[in-house]
Amino acid sequence: MKCRFCEKELHFKFIDLGSSPPSNSILTHEELNEPEVFFPLKLYVCDNCFLVQIDEYKKSNEIFNEKYAYFSSFSKSWLTHSKNYVSMVINKFNLDNNSLVIEIACNDGYLLQYFKEQDIPCLGIEPSSNTAQNAKQKGIEVIEDYFGTQLANNLIKRKKKPDLIIGNNVLAHVPNINDFVKGLKVLLNQNGIITMEFPHIMKLIQSNQFDTIYHEHFSYFSFYTVNLIFNHHGLEIFDVDEINTHGGSIRIYAHHKDSRKNTVSKNVNNLLKSEKSIKINNLEYYMGFQDRINKVKNDLLQFLINKKNEGNKIIAYGAAAKGNTLLNYCGIKEDLITFVVDLSPFKQGKYLPGSHIPIVKENKIKTYKPDYILILPWNIKDEIIDQLDYVKNWNAKFFIAIPEVKQI
Ligand SMILES: [Zn+2]
Repeated sequence: MKCRFCEKELHFKFIDLGSSPPSNSILTHEELNEPEVFFPLKLYVCDNCFLVQIDEYKKSNEIFNEKYAYFSSFSKSWLTHSKNYVSMVINKFNLDNNSLVIEIACNDGYLLQYFKEQDIPCLGIEPSSNTAQNAKQKGIEVIEDYFGTQLANNLIKRKKKPDLIIGNNVLAHVPNINDFVKGLKVLLNQNGIITMEFPHIMKLIQSNQFDTIYHEHFSYFSFYTVNLIFNHHGLEIFDVDEINTHGGSIRIYAHHKDSRKNTVSKNVNNLLKSEKSIKINNLEYYMGFQDRINKVKNDLLQFLINKKNEGNKIIAYGAAAKGNTLLNYCGIKEDLITFVVDLSPFKQGKYLPGSHIPIVKENKIKTYKPDYILILPWNIKDEIIDQLDYVKNWNAKFFIAIPEVKQI
């Protein structure tokens, strides 16, 4: 197996999470009686470019099918984050009604809707047709396709050269990273800007965020490695923000290497230096992670078994992808967690992949009155605790498993 960026042979295993079904493949009641396909979930680190990556066991068109039911607009904090980003970027780069904004993986239009509000022309690219439909209902033009050099070439033939290309949480999902970044280079206007947000592997390692590892994520980036990739394709990263979303992400700003429009911010060198100080370009940094996550697994199982033996009722909140990695790696099933609550009507009445824990509506909490609630999307735990404020009426307690098992 070769590195998906530099093509060097991969020898070093970063983590092995056994086998699990694709984390967004939730099941209907009928499907519970059918066989379920499990894929190995194993990551490698390249000792040349330090890209952490999964082998491509599953073709992306099998993953992003109609069952891919993640709708960005269901998270309030993500909407606020997106709205703030839009005002920031409009001001910073003087976008107006003569500009063109393209968002790759525009999902349900959670972000482009704010450009539309300001009358800034925009176009979304989204391979998953059920989320794309929602974006279209918001009046946003959407191309239902995967992004790469081929689509980039088609767009420029149609004179669609954007002043801003956005990609939030898409870079990790791209199987062919070289074709994708080359496509950005082809598509971008001469003085255009690219911004991309993605989880920072430094935070993943620091905070034991192994539950953000799933088949849909092909790559995990340090700033060091993403710089190598963009640079290789004739793009320069001229600024970077460290942001709190998804447990610690970075937002990069890139332009054509020969563009003089933006000066390189000191943030770029500062982050490269701080990554270097923890030896991010050294194999040792990546070793030993498996032992730490095995401890999380054992602690969580112990916690659940103890509470269960004391006669407590335990449920979980949030049927997001990251919960599935955790539950499947720990081997947790309905006997330990009775059900999981989720706001998405597309998931309610169905079952989590692998663990087969039922997904129910929020009102079930009020009738069941659980003693403990495991918050699976720990990155939005404050939002969830606020929303479920009423559970204190019967003294229910919240707990999380990442970065460590604790009651909150
Ligand atoms: Zn490599």
